Amino acid sequence: MRRFLSFVLIFVLFTGCAAENTAAGAAVETASADATVGTAAADATVGTAAADATVGTASALDLPEDSKNWKLSDFAPALCEADAEEERYFIAEGTEWENTVVVRRGAQEGPSVYIVGGIHGDETAGWTAANLLKEVCPKAGTVYILSPANVYGAEHDKRTTRSDRDLNRNFPGDPEGWDAERIAASIYADVEACSPDLLIDLHETKGPQESAPERDDLRNAVIVNDVAQISDLVWELTVEGDLTLMGSPPEGSVNRAVSEQLGIPAVTLETWRGEVLKERVARQIRFVEKVLTFYGML
Ligand SMILES: [Zn+2]
Repeated sequence: MRRFLSFVLIFVLFTGCAAENTAAGAAVETASADATVGTAAADATVGTAAADATVGTASALDLPEDSKNWKLSDFAPALCEADAEEERYFIAEGTEWENTVVVRRGAQEGPSVYIVGGIHGDETAGWTAANLLKEVCPKAGTVYILSPANVYGAEHDKRTTRSDRDLNRNFPGDPEGWDAERIAASIYADVEACSPDLLIDLHETKGPQESAPERDDLRNAVIVNDVAQISDLVWELTVEGDLTLMGSPPEGSVNRAVSEQLGIPAVTLETWRGEVLKERVARQIRFVEKVLTFYGML
């Protein structure tokens, strides 16, 4: 049944960036198609509701009971006011790592923003917020949402991929490599094809840790590789906002790969896991609202 749904979705909805870029599709076709995780990700029900039981079922996720009822409009009504059209398409199509990109297109021309949530599966607020943002209604421009990017990690409340590799240290990826490299390659190719004005990567931090005291101040923060690319936005988020600016995304992160190799500005958000999930999700969504407002998309 899921394969059938996937099949239907491909023909009805496959109109996004990946369709415009044969390299993006070809890059991942060599991978095998064992399907449990891949099809689950492609199943439309997962797309909008990963915060509910579909993704949470088999996992150690300790989501609040009411989280399945959360709606984007409860967090940010302004994100839900305009009329927007939706499209969906697959990346890594037909492979174990197949995933769905949701496209929300405003009625007016405008900038485009590509949102990735759940590259680290245990950073729950990131992909919960990104899943809710699949309902976003920009007035102008286009929002692409990929979440959870690390489906296996989100299902198992785990930072890494099935092979225990850190997806965010494997960009730009390798379509012939291990799982994290293949997933990274499919995401990187899609971002390249979409060529958004900004990439947003939603993460969380544990905050103060004995093992990494130098990261004590990494709480509610943004990470930007090249501030000059988006200096006005960074000013808005930090000096005018409530986020700390932390420099230098790590080697192999999507932020660094996209900003350095594709010249696409990228900003990573970190929320501190010391707060309750709902507040962290609210922070993530407020951050996205601020960015979309800055770009004139609301
Ligand atoms: Zn992370």
